[in-house]
Amino acid sequence: MHPALQPLLENNRRWADKMTAQNPQHFQTLAKQHTPKYLWIGCSDARMPANELVGLAPGEVFVHRNIANLVNSSDMNVLSVIEYAVQVLKVEHIIVNGHYGCGGVNAALSPQPAPDMVEHWIRPIKKYHSRLRINLKELSDTEISNQLCEVNVIEQVRNICHIPVVQKAWRDGQPLSIHGLIYNIETGRLRDLNTSISDYKTAEAFVLRKIKPL
Ligand SMILES: [Zn+2]
Repeated sequence: MHPALQPLLENNRRWADKMTAQNPQHFQTLAKQHTPKYLWIGCSDARMPANELVGLAPGEVFVHRNIANLVNSSDMNVLSVIEYAVQVLKVEHIIVNGHYGCGGVNAALSPQPAPDMVEHWIRPIKKYHSRLRINLKELSDTEISNQLCEVNVIEQVRNICHIPVVQKAWRDGQPLSIHGLIYNIETGRLRDLNTSISDYKTAEAFVLRKIKPL
């Protein structure tokens, strides 16, 4: 075994033993069902473990993470996750979770190019920035970054509203809400960006609304 794996597997054994000690049926129960109510779309940043941040146990959150928590309409990965979550798991909430100081957002702001694929991936964020440049010109670099991190979350909520499987769920009366949260790595606190969308009509208005500074 590679020496790097040894401590991880030991941690895993201790964790599994602890969970089983708390509830001998814990893993058997989880193995029989997969019924999360939440889909979490977060940044890959290592400081943001989805379940832990919101105090939910394994089995309670379906998770997708990528650099800068983007929902891109040409990304089969995120689209299939959303489709499965909405159509099969019938999650009731999709949460987009961004964070201040996001490396992906900061890379989009930097004049230095990121590695090739990352540069390609974060291109949508550059588009948000160019739309907001006039409104941001009086702000410090940190304020611009923070605001763009928030805008980036809101834009992903907007993108999710466009996805056919989401629109179909609303038309069929399936309970489904999309939310935008932002996380502060320095305090450990999440903040609601007040972008919750729970029906087709509100989504339509939201999709059509002009982008403006927060
Ligand atoms: Zn990030």
